[in-house]
Amino acid sequence: MQSVITRRKKTIRDIDVRGKRVLVRADFNVPLNEDGAIADDTRIRASLPTIRYLCERDARVILCSHLDRPKGVVEERLRLALVANRLSLLLDRPVAALQDCIGPEVESAVAAMSGGDIVLLENLRFHPEEKADDPAFAEQLAGLAEIYVNDAFGASHRAHASVVGVPGHLPAVAGLLLEKEVEAFTHILQRPERPFAAVIGGAKVSDKLEVLENIISRVDLLLIGGGMAATFLAARGYGTGGSRVETDRLDAVRTLEATAADRGVRLLLPRDVIVAERLEPGSAVQVVPAAEIPEDRVIADIGPGAADEFCRELSRCRTVVWNGPMGVFEVPEFAEGTRRIAAALANLDGTTVIGGGSTTDAVVRFGLADRMTHVSTGGGAALTMLAGRPLPGVEVLDDVGEV
Ligand code: ADP
Ligand code: MG
Repeated sequence: MQSVITRRKKTIRDIDVRGKRVLVRADFNVPLNEDGAIADDTRIRASLPTIRYLCERDARVILCSHLDRPKGVVEERLRLALVANRLSLLLDRPVAALQDCIGPEVESAVAAMSGGDIVLLENLRFHPEEKADDPAFAEQLAGLAEIYVNDAFGASHRAHASVVGVPGHLPAVAGLLLEKEVEAFTHILQRPERPFAAVIGGAKVSDKLEVLENIISRVDLLLIGGGMAATFLAARGYGTGGSRVETDRLDAVRTLEATAADRGVRLLLPRDVIVAERLEPGSAVQVVPAAEIPEDRVIADIGPGAADEFCRELSRCRTVVWNGPMGVFEVPEFAEGTRRIAAALANLDGTTVIGGGSTTDAVVRFGLADRMTHVSTGGGAALTMLAGRPLPGVEVLDDVGEV
């Protein structure tokens, strides 16, 4: 079987960080409210163990991150000062927000640091060189520190300067969050306790094809929901009304079904669905069997019968990975299927791993995040791991045994 990380990587526990200048690539890409405030600080909280570990050892902690998608220029609303303030509150110690991430002023601020001090560099993506993995930019960032730590799981699928460029210049190790994330996915993909189920949903098959193709040969049970269920139902010959069917993926879906049959993997589609006129609040809803979807309706959620069946099946599993909501959960009328799955996993006596931006949002919104074994902070990075592909930001870190 293809391994997820090819070799074991060093972590901050494998090296001497005492008193050193340590550049930590964190993932502070938090969602913001319309008024510019932090809407959810889960990612900031998730970075605390690494920061605390370093501070306790008198390291000089130089944090860096991107926030949102500035186009290589300064955008005032995306300055990281608001993250520094939140961090400072959470850590109960000062966190200095610098005005840039490279340059003479940053260098002198770093030179003035004492052991245990923390600074946060400015939004990396104010420089176009970050996304371009510009070598000179990476070298300048690396020049600030003696050790590089990647704790940004959520950015580790990106070959950006702060993720793959900087580690070329410094001893480079994983932070505690990165280690935990990679270990969670590696564990379920390589050594799952069985029965092992995957619940896959979300908008489209095309977003998840690699995940489906990788997971199908690893699980005992695959449950399909969300908008992508329409393409699966169409591939089995069902009418799907006005639902979006990805006609160019019907063959891929049929191949998945054949692989499942070959390997004795049970692949379940929703037996009933919630349909609506439109995927909008206030639209009239109806429960129909999957075989009787009206022409003028679209699938908005899995139905109560499907939710019962999925939950019953899941209750027998020892490991479940979930990516992709069962319905348009952002609209309350279409959230029930997603809520039912979340509740079933919260009550499961086994390992539950949640990945994907929307899926994580849903679980957090239902207040069930702390009842899961692992809720990933990374969307794209989690999908990359579930697809069985290596993460560039992990591959470049030093191997255990390397000097
Ligand atoms: P994740 O971010 O967890 O990987 P996706 O991005 O694949 O998940 O899918 C999330 C989106 O899928 C949500 O915005 C949700 O509204 C949408 N979705 C779920 N079910 C349906 C459906 N039946 N029709 C259209 N969109 C859906
Ligand atoms: Mg998404």
